[in-house]
Amino acid sequence: MSLRTVALVCAFAVAICVATSSLADDLAPAKSTARSTETKTKQDAEEAPAPEPFSLVRLNRPVPATRAYAPQNADEKANLPDAQPPIDDENGAATNDENELEIVGRILVDQSLDDGSGKYMIEDDCGMLRIIPQDAVRSIVAAPDRTPEEIGDKLEKKLLDEFGEGFAVRRAGDFIFVSDASPAYVDWCSRLFVSLNAGFQKFAEKHELPVKDRAEPLVVVVFATRDAFVRYAAVETPSANMLSAYYSMQTNRVALYDLTLTESGGQYADSRRKRLTLAETREILSRPNAAYNVATVVHEATHQIAFNRGLFLRTGPNELWTVEGLSLVFETPSGRVAQNGWSYRSSFPTNERMKNLYLRIANPSVALFRKVVEQDGFYQNIEASYAASWALFYYLYKRKPRQLFEYLKILAEKYPCALYPKEDRIKDFESVFGDDWEKLARDVDKFVRKS
Ligand SMILES: [Zn+2]
Repeated sequence: MSLRTVALVCAFAVAICVATSSLADDLAPAKSTARSTETKTKQDAEEAPAPEPFSLVRLNRPVPATRAYAPQNADEKANLPDAQPPIDDENGAATNDENELEIVGRILVDQSLDDGSGKYMIEDDCGMLRIIPQDAVRSIVAAPDRTPEEIGDKLEKKLLDEFGEGFAVRRAGDFIFVSDASPAYVDWCSRLFVSLNAGFQKFAEKHELPVKDRAEPLVVVVFATRDAFVRYAAVETPSANMLSAYYSMQTNRVALYDLTLTESGGQYADSRRKRLTLAETREILSRPNAAYNVATVVHEATHQIAFNRGLFLRTGPNELWTVEGLSLVFETPSGRVAQNGWSYRSSFPTNERMKNLYLRIANPSVALFRKVVEQDGFYQNIEASYAASWALFYYLYKRKPRQLFEYLKILAEKYPCALYPKEDRIKDFESVFGDDWEKLARDVDKFVRKS
């Protein structure tokens, strides 16, 4: 398995690290002040806000959103905006709302300062993370009550404005799909996402995980063509042309493209010439060669669901091995259920692709697992770190689920954007799983080889 193959699994690991450090940098000026949040940890969990109700933030000047939207039409290809870092602030990218002087959203981090030089991190009601300088804020009041339908309607309108001609929106369960792909493909996607969300709910109930509901739908962008997808993704990631789907923690969206184009062996070179039926779509995507890309969609959708249901902190800090481990474990049933692409089975069969990758790593060792927990491994050897993440998560899920979910709760209670040094990562890990790393590595290895 090439590095390219692994890179296709998920660009998220790198993206989350970049985004988290960028957020921490943006909030750094408040570190030494009385209202600093960066040192808060689980010991202060009772002070950490529960998901906040919406606030109405009135601005005295526009603060652009962090993502510049890529033009989707082919004839605009030459005018692509430069790629932007995940989080930018007052010098940020262009936005469709350049005159926006009101933001409705949740204030995730309040680092306002007495001298007015602080910042806020806000998740706006369309799901974007925004960094708002304190001196741009005129007032903050409670937002007027809106029904989930009204929130969804606003989001629909914004998406149609953003993506423009040829795109339509479709609501399904907790999701809103914006797409120019064939209706059958969007239908296939919506069934997959809804099924996955229901599976996640069963998973959470089985393990008594404190997951939450959201009022606003989760956005999934489905492009008819791979080219349009790559152009869209290029704004956020330099490895766009190696991806088949991705979740962005900054926009909170999953983006993907019509896989029937690439998985039909040229049979349907351009789906717009022949609108496939749902049955044809299912047939193509249940072929063995499609399993890998379908698994990738499941993987990215699992990220979106897990972050938004509160299992992981979207702002960080997180342990990447748990974030990736969960998605890698959830991937597995895909491809085995031909009709819907995925169905929940709490037993989660072995992810053979990850097992093979693990077995190819020479001598999985204490150092490998420690580095994954410390995060360094993800920067040093991403391929080995994915395999180790899967192995560790899968072993703990199967053999020590109570401890695993206790540990995930500790992580989920961290304060948003808190620093999480490697010493603390090891300490939290050992507080739940003990400090006998030699035995742990042996047990994981033995378990994986037998699985
Ligand atoms: Zn991932």
